[in-house]
Amino acid sequence: MTHSYFNPKCEARSKSSSGCGVFAVAPISKGELVSLWGGTIVHKSKLDPSMPRFTQRVLQIDEELYILTAEEKEPNDCFNHSCEPNLGFTGQIGLVAMRDINVGEELTFDYAMSDGGPYDEFECNCGLPTCRHKVSGNDWKLPELWKKYDGYFSTYLARRIENLRK
Ligand SMILES: [Zn+2]
Repeated sequence: MTHSYFNPKCEARSKSSSGCGVFAVAPISKGELVSLWGGTIVHKSKLDPSMPRFTQRVLQIDEELYILTAEEKEPNDCFNHSCEPNLGFTGQIGLVAMRDINVGEELTFDYAMSDGGPYDEFECNCGLPTCRHKVSGNDWKLPELWKKYDGYFSTYLARRIENLRK
């Protein structure tokens, strides 16, 4: 029994460069639900960055709240970041297709859609012309991303953006 929902049109595979990734094994339509993370909700003060697979297991879901996925690895732990993603958020724990996705494509989201703090900052090497190179917990503040991901930010970041726009 898994804790998360994982659309059967996807598969997690190991990748030489970055551990694992999620790929489409059947065509996925724009708007389709791809993943819902389940787990334990933990307060910021209880996060332990030294735990195994910390950045794979932890996702920020509100100002001081994070979801920690199961100890046993699930395919939902394998979604990678891209600066040109094909998935966006629905709510705080769901991912939907932002466009039609073909068989074989890797399914990715932009960590700027969900990360409002520095717990998972890294150098991006996606190689795309729009690559931000350094992916930080402040990227959600970039107005060009507000436009690009309108309707696809995690709920608490959509709230923050709404407040900045006032
Ligand atoms: Zn990139």
